[in-house]
Amino acid sequence: MKVTEIFEEKKKTGKPVLSFEIFPPKKEEALKNIDATLERLCDLHPDFISVTFGAGGSAVDNQTVELAKKIKNRYGVEPIVHLTCLHYGKEEISTILHQLRENGIENILALRGDVNPNVPMKHDFRYANELVEYIKAQGDFHISGACYPETHLEAPDAVTDIRNLKRKVDAGVSHLVSQLFFDNEAFYRFYEKTRIAGIDVPVEAGIMPVTNRSQIERMVNICGATLPRKFERVLHKYDENKEALFDAGMAYAINQIVDLIANDVDGIHIYTMNNPKVTERICDGIRNLI
Ligand code: FAD
Repeated sequence: MKVTEIFEEKKKTGKPVLSFEIFPPKKEEALKNIDATLERLCDLHPDFISVTFGAGGSAVDNQTVELAKKIKNRYGVEPIVHLTCLHYGKEEISTILHQLRENGIENILALRGDVNPNVPMKHDFRYANELVEYIKAQGDFHISGACYPETHLEAPDAVTDIRNLKRKVDAGVSHLVSQLFFDNEAFYRFYEKTRIAGIDVPVEAGIMPVTNRSQIERMVNICGATLPRKFERVLHKYDENKEALFDAGMAYAINQIVDLIANDVDGIHIYTMNNPKVTERICDGIRNLI
C-alpha cells in the first residue's frame, strides 16, 4: 500500500499516522538481533516503518532493501526505503528501483544525503528534487521527502529553504517527514509557512526520544535542533543519574507528542534508534491517542 493511501485511510479515523524509523545495523551481531527488534516494533502496530540508507555503501548489496522486504513480508507492515543520491549514479539508482519493484516495495523517501568524504561523488544528482524527478519518471512509486522545521543547516535562510522544499514537492513528493526537533512551536511556525508557500502534503513530526546526554549533544550538533530551556534544565539536573534521565527523556517526548496531537498534527514519526524498549514506553504513554 502506498503511504498516501495510508494517510487517506487514517484521516477517516480522526487519528494521526504513527510511523517508526529504523536503521540497518552495521555490526554482524546486531544484524542477527534485528528480528527481535522488528518483532517488538511491529507489535506496536505502526502504520509504516522507514529504513535508512547509508551514504556510500554498495547500492546493490545494501541491507536497507533486505530489511524493508522483511518488514513487509514477515511482519505485514508497510516499509519506506530511504534512498540517497550524492554518491550514486543513475544506473545504480535504477538498479535499486528495479529491486524495489521486484519485491513489491512501493514507498521511497528520496534524499540528497550528506557528503561522505571517503567515497567519491557521482554528480548525477545535486539535490533531492532531481532524484524525485528521476524516480517519478521510472515508475509508479510513492515518494516522501525530508523537511527541516528549524531550516536545513546549509540553507542561507528559512525562506530559501521553504522555496526549495516547494520545488521538491512540485517534483513529486507527496509526504514529508521532519527532522527531529524539541520545540513544538518551531514545528508549528514551520508548518504554517509550508501552507502559505502552497505545500499541501502531510507533514509528519519527527520525534527523537532522548535517552542520554551524549546522544542529545551529538544530535543537536548534527542537525542544529534548538534545546528549549526547560529541557536543558532537565538534562542538567539528571546528568549524573542515567535512570532518571531516561524517565525524563521519555516524559518529554510523550509530552511533545500529546501537544502535537492536540494541535492536529498529520503524523508522528518516531526515530526509534532500533530501541524497542524506548518505543514501547512512548507508545504506552500515548496508546489512547493514536
Ligand atoms: P535537499 O532537499 O536536496 O536539500 C539540501 C539543501 O539544499 C537544503 O539546504 C536546501 O534548501 C537546498 N536545496 C534543495 N534543493 C535545491 C535546489 N534545487 N537548488 C538549490 N538548493 C537546493 N541521510 C542519509 O544519509 N541516509 C538516510 O537514510 C537519511 N534519512 C533521513 C530522514 C529524514 C526524515 C531526514 C530529515 C534526514 C535524513 N537524512 C538521511 C539526512 C539528509 O540526507 C540530510 O539532511 C541532507 O543534508 C539533506 O537531504 P535532503 O534530501 O533534505 O536534501
